[in-house]
Amino acid sequence: MATIINGKELAKKIRMQLKDEVDILKQKGIQPKLAVIMIGNDKASEVYVRNKSKACNEIGINFEEFLLPEQTKREELLSLITKLNNRDDIHGILLQSPIPKHLDIREAFNTIDYRKDVDGFHPINVGKLAIGEECFVSCTPAGVMKMLEEYQIDTQGKQAVVIGRSNIVGKPLAQCLLNKNATITICHSKTQEIEEVTKKADILIAALGKPKFITADMVKEGAVVIDVGINRNEEGKLVGDVDFESVEKVASYITPVPGGVGPMTVAMLMSNVVTAAKNTMNS
Ligand code: NAP
Repeated sequence: MATIINGKELAKKIRMQLKDEVDILKQKGIQPKLAVIMIGNDKASEVYVRNKSKACNEIGINFEEFLLPEQTKREELLSLITKLNNRDDIHGILLQSPIPKHLDIREAFNTIDYRKDVDGFHPINVGKLAIGEECFVSCTPAGVMKMLEEYQIDTQGKQAVVIGRSNIVGKPLAQCLLNKNATITICHSKTQEIEEVTKKADILIAALGKPKFITADMVKEGAVVIDVGINRNEEGKLVGDVDFESVEKVASYITPVPGGVGPMTVAMLMSNVVTAAKNTMNS
């Protein structure tokens, strides 16, 4: 039976450490603050933003929410981002996705000052990650890497297979693993005979958004299996991309859903906000 990687507990520990760091920053006159922009009324986004707000509260990070109507114009959004870029009291800016279709999310992300880009989506941060420089790393990949580190899972020379190549999860995660000397394979919807690839993985990361896609027969005995997926099944229950019940019998480590990668994502966002606030001391 696999060891379960407890993301919920680990995230709690990280939040406690961050709280101490925030207390020290406050003594130095710096009050970390996150600004979140949400456009329209997406129910899932509302839950995500509420969770982020709660985490900020717990740690002592100030939180300011900007709720914009569905019909928000391009110029209005970009002008708000520019204003937030120029406000010294704001250290991190997050644009909650999805945003309405008439707006260009890439343009909006690119407008955020990369020093306040706590989501790690700005091209400067993406580029810095690619060349191995200090930067804001997208929160979900950062959370996965933190889990591997905390459970002392060695990545050096290991075959790591990432399923999914999105700009927010798959690609940055593969880059992070490469930076830690893993040998990387990225699979996507056009990959053929995917089970032949997954069976070779020492570290298998599922980030495709297909419920219970990874089954035990696709996993090498003793592999580390990280489930990034968040899906709802027919009963409305949260399920991952991994068939946990069968895979935990062959894996050496496995993350559950819920209670795995999800809470780590929020913890790493908090960590990025604290880093952004700290960085203002050196600029
Ligand atoms: P996405 O943008 O939809 O990307 C999905 C990726 O999976 C794409 O690269 C796609 O390939 C690939 N894919 C789809 N079907 C596949 C198949 N049958 N075989 C192999 N690859 C396949 O999704 P995302 O934003 O990266 O998110 C992925 C999952 O993680 C979702 O369930 C999402 O809810 C979850 N998520 C969780 C967290 C967290 O905090 N735990 C954070 C973010 C996302 P193509 O590129 O060829 O289309």
